[in-house]
Amino acid sequence: MATKIPTAQKRMFQNVFVCKDCSKKIRTQVVRIILKKVKCPRCNGRAFRPIRKK
Ligand SMILES: [Zn+2]
Repeated sequence: MATKIPTAQKRMFQNVFVCKDCSKKIRTQVVRIILKKVKCPRCNGRAFRPIRKK
């Protein structure tokens, strides 16, 4: 079943994104990624992907 992962851990991973340019991990809300309100502190890039996506 899909209930192996605790809800808190699932939520934690869902809120973590990785910069496509420098692989810096950022914790933020999904909405802010969609609205492009998040800038990478290292390279100022705005391209992020979810951490679990290969
Ligand atoms: Zn970056």
